Amino acid sequence: MSTLVTGIAELVTNDPSLGDGQLGLVSEAAVVVDGGTVAWVGPAARAPEADERVDVGGRAVIPGFVDSHAHLVFAGDRSAEFEARMSGARYDGGGIGSTVAATREASDDALRARLRSLVAEMRGQGTTTVEVKSGYGLTVDDEARCLRLAAEVTPETTFLGAHVVPAEYAGRRDEYVDLVTGPMLAACAPYARWIDVFCEAASAHAFDGAAARAVLTAGRDAGLGLRVHANQLSAGPGVRLAVELGAASADHCTHLTDDDVDALAGGTTVATLLPGVEFSTRSPYPDARRLLSAGVTVALATDCNPGSCFTSSMAFCVALAVREMHMTAAEALWAATAGGAAALRRTDVGRLCPGARADLAVLEAPSFTHLAYRPGVPLVRALNVGYSGSGHPSR
Ligand SMILES: [Zn+2]
Repeated sequence: MSTLVTGIAELVTNDPSLGDGQLGLVSEAAVVVDGGTVAWVGPAARAPEADERVDVGGRAVIPGFVDSHAHLVFAGDRSAEFEARMSGARYDGGGIGSTVAATREASDDALRARLRSLVAEMRGQGTTTVEVKSGYGLTVDDEARCLRLAAEVTPETTFLGAHVVPAEYAGRRDEYVDLVTGPMLAACAPYARWIDVFCEAASAHAFDGAAARAVLTAGRDAGLGLRVHANQLSAGPGVRLAVELGAASADHCTHLTDDDVDALAGGTTVATLLPGVEFSTRSPYPDARRLLSAGVTVALATDCNPGSCFTSSMAFCVALAVREMHMTAAEALWAATAGGAAALRRTDVGRLCPGARADLAVLEAPSFTHLAYRPGVPLVRALNVGYSGSGHPSR
């Protein structure tokens, strides 16, 4: 069954061969969807026939957001920590321990219900691909079950046993790294596509360069792709380690040296910026313009998590990127769609060209610029057209 989507005032394809500029913009456009895949894109006046027709009534259509960094398997609530932070307390990652305690206590059903409601909340705001990390279990069994649950909703699952050193390993970080790289990795690898580590010398709870290298190389040997929480709280070894090991993404990149920027510019690692974290921790934003000027591929993601940033809205992150990081609206939208896809090494999402997944999102506006122009307004939602299922292929 093919579907002709028409009435598109402005279509973002992210394919410069199909339209204008980096976003490959087509005005007065149409898209033909067939079997969950984009079959045709172009001006509505030249659209071919299809079995059925959906008219979006003069709205803009964009590729569904690709949120390449989220922590959605957890229990508990840290609104009190947020309130304390807004009253002057500093964020250092220490509050993660409270989520770990609540997550270990929670049943599979409770974790699954929370996870599924967050994925639905994201889809309702235009996100059609989401990466989900573990990292609040921090025992062999709890990390494995968090990843098993994550794999029910997305193929983009990330083992983050090296999120923080759990309380029971306080002062024994090396022993905990041995657990993460040994039995925990073995139990989690069957459910994970990626491995990640919180590399941060400035946090007593996280992992230094040597520990991060041990975690990442063990993950690579187990067949997992690499991602790194890098340079969030201070300039450290995370970004250069990510580039050296060929990680798909270095995430945060808030505190960068010139060497870090040069490394990113010369490598294949995407710099994933998470401005919702700086917003929610009242911290200085990453220097997106410096990265873009150096030719680094930049992605935007939510980092949706109960501690440092509990937003599920990619549109909000786009608005922050434009207002606070001086990205253009086009750069920000590209980073939130095609950039996220690059950070996940995917070519079938984050763009709307023939052969791509039919992950269309529709705006209550005639132009994508409204995403930044109207911050906080629920303008965008995933469009369910010619397509069934959760928005993700089964594995
Ligand atoms: Zn994170």
